[in-house]
Amino acid sequence: MPIYLDHAATTPLRPEALEAMLPYLGAEFGNPSSPHAWGRRARAALDEAHERIAAALGCGPREIVLTSGGTESLNLALKGAAWAGKARGHRILTTRVEHHAVLHPLQHLEKFGFEVVELPVDRYGRIDPDDVEAALTDRTILVAIGHANNEVGTVQPIAEIVRRVRASGPRGCLVAVDAVASAPYLRVEVDELGADLVAIAGHKLEGPKGIGALYVRAGTHILGQQHGGTQERHRRAGTEDVAGAVGMGVAVQLAVAEREATARRLRRARDRLVSALTGMAGVELTGHPRDRLPGLVSIVVRDVEGASVVVKLDLEGVAASVGSACTTGSAEPSHVLTAMGYPEDEARGALRFSLGRTTADADIDTVLEVVPRIVAGARAAAAAIAAERRALAPATATATATAGAPDRFPGPGSVVAG
Ligand SMILES: *Cc1c(COP(=O)(O)O)cnc(C)c1O
Repeated sequence: MPIYLDHAATTPLRPEALEAMLPYLGAEFGNPSSPHAWGRRARAALDEAHERIAAALGCGPREIVLTSGGTESLNLALKGAAWAGKARGHRILTTRVEHHAVLHPLQHLEKFGFEVVELPVDRYGRIDPDDVEAALTDRTILVAIGHANNEVGTVQPIAEIVRRVRASGPRGCLVAVDAVASAPYLRVEVDELGADLVAIAGHKLEGPKGIGALYVRAGTHILGQQHGGTQERHRRAGTEDVAGAVGMGVAVQLAVAEREATARRLRRARDRLVSALTGMAGVELTGHPRDRLPGLVSIVVRDVEGASVVVKLDLEGVAASVGSACTTGSAEPSHVLTAMGYPEDEARGALRFSLGRTTADADIDTVLEVVPRIVAGARAAAAAIAAERRALAPATATATATAGAPDRFPGPGSVVAG
């Protein structure tokens, strides 16, 4: 049986959500904006989805904007807040370990004169609230921070950061929280977090792909980023994905109802995996040892390429990841590990197992049987290649230079395990 341990990339659609969606992919095809019976039934389903999502976040249904996913929710939050706040200032604070769905929209805003400050993190990937406070100026209009990191699982002290922003920041400075990775497993109550904007995605909590939500605190002004019809209270134009909304509504409601039990079970499985893996020579846990997502195991393995371990695990039916699914395939080491102070060769040994609600204890047993064997094999292959390279060093250097072949994994600690 193949084992899926990449829930931080995406999760399977849970059967209850699929079941609830089916009518809206079939007979109930109405447009929620239509005044006739088909439209009214679609509208009722959409309204119910808003209510379920709002209940999960502890807010009102009118504070929820449905989008196409986490990335769009974050684009709407960040660009919408920046443009709405432009008259008051141009300074935006974030951190170096954010998901690209936060960093790239902000880098885009820099082209229009906004100043983006990426705050440093410690060895565990944590921000110091003092750093946030010190970076606030009277021209700061937005602070954008992820609740939990999707690569290393570290949970940020969001409530404390928000308190500092309220106490020391200028009036009207908004706080946007990327809760896409945390919402499935941690409490994400908007009043506990204190945030003005909170982004979540359906497919990270066993809902469908292509749907997400942004919480916009009542009275908070952000500029819409997609223009057209009057949908989502003028904040996101376009005919709504009714089936997706219904599926996400059901998934998020169930995720919240089961969250405590799921988190407790995952924490036990995670800790078992962490203690066995870190018991291996040259393996280190990345991210915070305690304040971390319940189901997220992230490590660096010395003297191997995480990417080649992922390929070998896949051949044995185990789906894992080196880190963010969005950057897999790029030759660059993770910006998250780099920000945490890991040198490039160590960061290349990154490996992530993200457990989910449906992960069984037997899955962990299998991983614990397979991983040490694969790592030992990869290390032996790497050592053999390194020895061969040393023996052939002058000849190889010439041949490579002549052929002009790019060395994809340069550097002393790096290898392509064959
Ligand atoms: C997955 C993820 C996103 C992007 O969400 P999509 O729904 O894939 O667009 C953003 N931030 C974090 C922390 C994530 O884990």
